[in-house]
This record gives sequence, structure tokens and C-alpha cells, in this order.
Amino acid sequence: MEGMEKEILFSRDAINQRITELAADISRDYAGKELVVVGVLKGAFIFMADLIRRLQTPCVIDFARLASYGAGSTSSGQIVITKDIEMEIRDRDVLIVEDIVDTGLTLSYLVQAFKERGPRSLKVCAFMDKRLRRKVVFEADYVGFTIDDGFVVGYGLDFNEKARFFPDVYIVTNL
Ligand code: 5GP
Repeated sequence: MEGMEKEILFSRDAINQRITELAADISRDYAGKELVVVGVLKGAFIFMADLIRRLQTPCVIDFARLASYGAGSTSSGQIVITKDIEMEIRDRDVLIVEDIVDTGLTLSYLVQAFKERGPRSLKVCAFMDKRLRRKVVFEADYVGFTIDDGFVVGYGLDFNEKARFFPDVYIVTNL
């Protein structure tokens, strides 16, 4: 992180406001149902914590972790589940909560893997969507913020494991 130059992209206030809107949308869509919210580690943990505390509908939570082969900050295409959820999702309403949809490879893989377990419904909520970077067709059902490109940190998102603890989201300007 030494030498990382950054500019604020989304302030904690803007994030708060947007999450309140997202939680209202999700609560309306799942009224009367109990959600299984699956957070994708590590990046989504703060977003998920804020989101579920604003839901008006009950939920249970679990976590998954995936890895993509290849070094650096971009996916190379080979995805594996390194930590699976512990809950049974057959006939449940499942909402995957992810930090960023970038190439779309990670979420395409996870959605396919979960579909094979027979959930009643399966949707994805992404904190951020980098629409221009897709390598596969993938649409999240709920999106917090859309950006074109650039590398972002803070609010759970890391740069070599650092910067996750920043309360605001920054764009790194000297990568
Ligand atoms: P993809 O959609 O390419 O399979 O992978 C998305 C994952 O790459 C995200 O879950 C996130 O962990 C990581 N990622 C993509 N873009 C960024 C970014 O701008 N900042 C950070 N910190 N991680 C990113």
C-alpha cells in the first residue's frame, strides 16, 4: 500500500444511502420469505453486514470463498470453490452477495454450482458492477454502483490484502 495513490469514489454517506435503497428493493421482492444470504469472502463481508441489517425480511447467512488461478487482481478463468457454504440450499431462496462483478467469471461459476443444488430461487446482489470488463455474459439482479473500469479499494475491497478497512471506496490512481 506504500505509494498507493487514491481518490475517493464513493463516500460512506453515499454508500449508506445506496444500501438503504438496495435493502428496500430486496425486502419488497422477498416479502414473506426467509432468505439465505451467501456472502462471498472476503471482499463482500462489510457490504453484506450493512445490507442484512437493513433488510425488513428475515434471513440466515452463510459464506463461500472462491479463488481464480493466476496472480494479480484479475481473474484468469479457472475458478475453484475454496470454502463452500455449510447450509443446504435445496428449495431455499438464495441471495449471493458479492463485492464486484468484473469479468463475470467468478459469479457465473458460483451461480452454476449453486443452481445444481436445486434452490427455489437464486439471485445475485453485487456492491459494484464493472460492466465494460465482462468476459462472459452475466447480469447481477441488484447492483449498488456501476463503474466503467479502474481498480477500487476500501469498504471490504483490498489491494494485496490491505485497504479493506477504509470506510469509503477509493479508486487507485497510480496502478
Ligand atoms: P470476476 O468477475 O472477474 O470473476 O472477479 C471479480 C473479483 O475480482 C471480485 O470479487 C474482486 O474480488 C476482484 N476484483 C475485481 N475488480 C476489483 C477491484 O477493482 N478492486 C478489488 N479490490 N477487487 C477487484
